[in-house]
Amino acid sequence: MINENYQKLSESYLFSEIARKVKAYKEEHPKADIISLGIGDVTQPLCPAVIEALHKATDEMACSATFRGYGPERGYDFLRNAIVQNDFQARGIEMDADEIFVSDGAKSDTGNFQELLSKDVRIAVTDPVYPVYVDSNIMAGREIVYLPCKAENDFAPELPAEHVDVIYLCYPNNPTGTTLNRVQLKKWVDYALKEGALIFYDAAYEAYIQSDDVPHSIYEVEGAKQCAVEFHSYSKTAGFTGIRCGYTVVPKEVKSEELRVRNSSLNQLWNRRQSTKFNGTSYLSQRAAEAIYTPDGKAQIQATICYYMENARLMREALTVMGFMVYGGVDAPYLWVKVPEGTTSWGFFEEMLHKANVVCTPGVGFGNAGEGYVRLTAFGRREQTVEALKRIKTLG
Ligand SMILES: *Cc1c(COP(=O)(O)O)cnc(C)c1O
Repeated sequence: MINENYQKLSESYLFSEIARKVKAYKEEHPKADIISLGIGDVTQPLCPAVIEALHKATDEMACSATFRGYGPERGYDFLRNAIVQNDFQARGIEMDADEIFVSDGAKSDTGNFQELLSKDVRIAVTDPVYPVYVDSNIMAGREIVYLPCKAENDFAPELPAEHVDVIYLCYPNNPTGTTLNRVQLKKWVDYALKEGALIFYDAAYEAYIQSDDVPHSIYEVEGAKQCAVEFHSYSKTAGFTGIRCGYTVVPKEVKSEELRVRNSSLNQLWNRRQSTKFNGTSYLSQRAAEAIYTPDGKAQIQATICYYMENARLMREALTVMGFMVYGGVDAPYLWVKVPEGTTSWGFFEEMLHKANVVCTPGVGFGNAGEGYVRLTAFGRREQTVEALKRIKTLG
């Protein structure tokens, strides 16, 4: 007998449906030069500091004196210390290296963390949403409360009317590209502290933040260390989608009444879970991640982020001039664009594909509240991005 919850998963047909429609169009129009503004993957190569670290780590593996086998379960000290210093202490946040768990990326950790909780906890997610939060909880048999995010509420979810135990927040947001400022985020921390709820904060796009009033970490908000777990990834920060490395912060103060009585903590439970089911991220990936915290590494990854954010700026500017309502794209590599009156997410997708040969992602694929929007990404190459904008302009 299989886990019957898997039958409750809705077919993840969004990206396969897009691929199918693009393929069908190409077969009918073999000469069409199609540009994708739909990709959620980076396109720029790894920076020189990372490449150098990878070569060096590889050479160490070739010599018995410096060879490394299984690493420490929470990750190597060299990386956890660099994380504490650069991502937290530099922002005035106190963090212990034992609160950092190095991982192979944020998808696995955001998907797996729910394992620590009872099947009966009430989960809330924003709508539209990164599908991992929803599907991992459906697999575990939980029901989910959706918090709609639309232009009408500035894409900031309202506090749930009923009690929830866990809230997944992702800011800067995928797919909308919008953010929460300090005041908006504090509302959620206060809610969690008052309700005894837990916040799962996905900070995968933190490095793209340009505005001063947008927190890079939820721990910039007072009280968050008692109620929040935070997920980080080097995928979008440094182009590690193929290298694989990230980390999760589990503060020692995060405890429920039950954990307090047992003299335990979420940090201990996650350590137990990881040491049972995970054998660490490769030494090479961790050395590569360490390199982005060097002065050269920092400057180099910043240059790539600027490249993508210049795409975002060009897209925002051009689409706004064309009369589109455009959200996001200021502190995130995603733009969330309202489709013209009288059409739908999929309708506009078809129009863009057929008339402009540009691929976008229908917003409804990320949840019902995404109907009426499409997502465009700034991860493309400059020439292609500019060319795509020129073509969209001819749509009229
Ligand atoms: C890309 C992305 C991640 C990162 O996933 P990795 O497994 O680290 O590559 C996490 N959360 C969101 C919302 C993302 O879009």
